[in-house]
Parts: sequence; C-alpha cells; structure tokens
Amino acid sequence: MEDTICCPGETLEMSTELADVFGSLGREHGYDDIAAEFAPYKEFKSTWRRSGRSVRFQISDYLGGADREVLEDFAGSLYERVSRGARRSIYTPRLTSWLMSREFLSRNQPLYLERSRNLSLDHCGKAYDLQEAYLSLRDQGLVCNCPDAVFNWTVRGNRMRVGYCSVLMQVIAVSSILDNAAVPSFVSEYVLYHEILHIQDGLRPDGRHHDKEFHERERQHPRWRESEEWLRRLAVRPA
Ligand SMILES: [Zn+2]
Repeated sequence: MEDTICCPGETLEMSTELADVFGSLGREHGYDDIAAEFAPYKEFKSTWRRSGRSVRFQISDYLGGADREVLEDFAGSLYERVSRGARRSIYTPRLTSWLMSREFLSRNQPLYLERSRNLSLDHCGKAYDLQEAYLSLRDQGLVCNCPDAVFNWTVRGNRMRVGYCSVLMQVIAVSSILDNAAVPSFVSEYVLYHEILHIQDGLRPDGRHHDKEFHERERQHPRWRESEEWLRRLAVRPA
C-alpha cells in the first residue's frame, strides 16, 4: 500500500502549526495552559480534557494536511464545545470543502484502510465480487459513477451489521456472511447499493442519514423486498 504519511520534517511543522493555532485561540477563550497534538484515531474524531484553565486536545491526524484557516475553523468549533457546550456543527464551509477534496482523500484513504482491521482490502470475495456488483448497479442506472470509492468484504462476518461505510474516506464494507453462494448475489448488491447511496449523499452534519427520501431511493432497487427478507432471515440463522 502506498504510504501517504508526510516525512518527519513536515509532520513536525504541522504539529507546531496545530499547537500554535489551538494555543492562540485558546488564550482568547481564557485558557493559559494549552496542548494540542495529532492522534492516529481510526475514525475522524478528536478528544479533549479540560481542567480549570488547562486544556489538552488530541486531534485526528487526518487533519494533518489541512491549511491553517481550516485548522482555525476547527479549533474555533472545538472551543465552542469545550467552553460553552455548544452543539453547533463543526462543519464550516472551509472544513467541509477540505474534507471533500481529492487532496484529503488521497492523503487519508490509504491511512484509513491501513487502520481498518476488519476489512479484507479486497472487493473480490469467495463467491462474489463487489466491484462487479457496483458496475451492475451503475449499468442499471441506480448509482452514479464513484471512481474513488473502495469496496471491501469484512474479515469477520457480522449478521446484524451487514454493511457500513465511511462517507469521508469513501470506503464501504459489506459483511462476509453475504459472500456465500447459498445467499443470492442480489443481497450483497442491495447492501452495497444502500452504502453507495450514503456516499452519494456526502456529509450530513444533521445526522439524518436514513430519512424517508433515503428509503424511497433504497426501494428503487428491483430486489429490495427479497433482499430485506434475506437479511432478516440471516440475522437469525446464518446461511
Ligand atoms: Zn445506512
């Protein structure tokens, strides 16, 4: 796998900038002991510990390549949360456009895949090929072209959570319990379809991923009803 982590010199420079941005904004918010460093979380998340006028941040290193303005926006949103408990969305227009950029994806998608322990890193399974399923969905006109998306079977088979995706990283996982000749191919295709719809929807800061409109689109899949039945049965009894 291609290594997209920056060289140590660049990493140090980025860490200094991060500490600098959080430091100056933190002083405006009344803190005098501030630390901020990048942390290699698998998901895009950040954590903090606050005690009096002291605050320590661990910031997702997926933000490592971001411009100073993006870091400033992000720091501003976090301080609002830390100091005032504000639930305001962290996704400012500048942060959103960085997260949706090709630069973000080419830097971070390989890193995310490397950190995802339950992915086979292969679209080709024992019985079915998810890349073929994607092409079939595309030919049926059900999904758009998504050239950057990566499709994987999971290593461990999960019966309840048959698919998931990272919209940010354009990575889709389909449970390996569906990669079985005893389960018709349309079932994994349907699960893949569901996840590709999420990727097409992009970031949804309001968290409303499965609204009525989503389910209407989901039901455009010609085998949705049978697929749902299969998934219900498999949840109880594996094939
Ligand atoms: Zn979903």
